[in-house]
Amino acid sequence: MATRKSLEAKVTAAQKKLREAEETLTAHIRRNVMAVCGWSPPYGKGCGKKTSIGKLTYFQTHWYDDEPYREGSPREGEGQTQCPKCGQKLRFLDGTGNEHLEKYKYLFGKIVDVDPK
Ligand SMILES: [Zn+2]
Repeated sequence: MATRKSLEAKVTAAQKKLREAEETLTAHIRRNVMAVCGWSPPYGKGCGKKTSIGKLTYFQTHWYDDEPYREGSPREGEGQTQCPKCGQKLRFLDGTGNEHLEKYKYLFGKIVDVDPK
């Protein structure tokens, strides 16, 4: 019969394994999800270069505190990254078809908040 102590040790070991698996998955996604340098008004049409999202920096340029809060959805505001090949900025806007932003922003290699709350 398992003791409380042995069960707790198994739970701790399982939690450690889960954390390690999550870190491996995140690293895999950062290497394999590509950001494409494409059309991004008002900056331009882009050069088409694909870059692993983990190699890019996300610059948080705006938080949308002044607009109505969408129920159940965090406000991610607006951010940019920059193409390492041609230097074009690529914009990411909350609420304009970038619903994935709030889910995947953490995948960027680095996040710099240039508009701190
Ligand atoms: Zn480019």
